[in-house]
Amino acid sequence: MPNLILRQAVGKECPNNPDDVKVIYQRLMDIGMIICYDFPGYLDDIIMQGIIDAQRHFMLVPDGVISVGGKTQGFLANWKNKPISAGVQLPGRLREAWDWVDPLLPDGSYCSSGYRSADDQRRILHNFFLNTYRTQIIAKYGQAAYDAAKADLRANEAKVLEMVRGVGQAIAAPGSSMHQKGKAVDIGGPSAIDNKQVEIVKLVARAHPDLYSGKILKERNGCVHFEIV
Ligand SMILES: [Zn+2]
Repeated sequence: MPNLILRQAVGKECPNNPDDVKVIYQRLMDIGMIICYDFPGYLDDIIMQGIIDAQRHFMLVPDGVISVGGKTQGFLANWKNKPISAGVQLPGRLREAWDWVDPLLPDGSYCSSGYRSADDQRRILHNFFLNTYRTQIIAKYGQAAYDAAKADLRANEAKVLEMVRGVGQAIAAPGSSMHQKGKAVDIGGPSAIDNKQVEIVKLVARAHPDLYSGKILKERNGCVHFEIV
């Protein structure tokens, strides 16, 4: 964890030791939560608003308090924007949904998918069938059935879907995915941080019930998928 050491709590009705307030002031400026200006020497309205704006990411009702060792201190210490993969589209409120979770996600996270067209979804399905799960599908359904489906992937789409799902990969039919409706985001990263990603998205979703649907799932291809309303 980067250094963000507080001796006592900072914020609303807190001791607000000037050294502690300065640490928070500096951090809020570094992450772009407040404007750049000279430290006033005490907790002023700008710093207070910065604390609340940071907490809005993960609290339905920000309390304006940074306790020593508490959640807000932890998030501020690790606050960092994550990359969005090339070509990912986040139209409308998808971008807002990503922006709330983004800086809180564990290191190694990135936005791997947003809006996808039906053709994009079809390419993913075909890639699962032809590459990712080819061996497992042949083992389960046999070479002949595999080859028969492969002969015309588009005409045999129902069968292709059945086989990919049959080896444990959840995938929406092309045309029906929430990604195609512009209502879903996938977060990539090493599988070791999947649970942490889910925990963060759940926390953020509870703080923004008007935006997130609450549907959050770990996909077998290593992504954490969440949806907006
Ligand atoms: Zn997804």
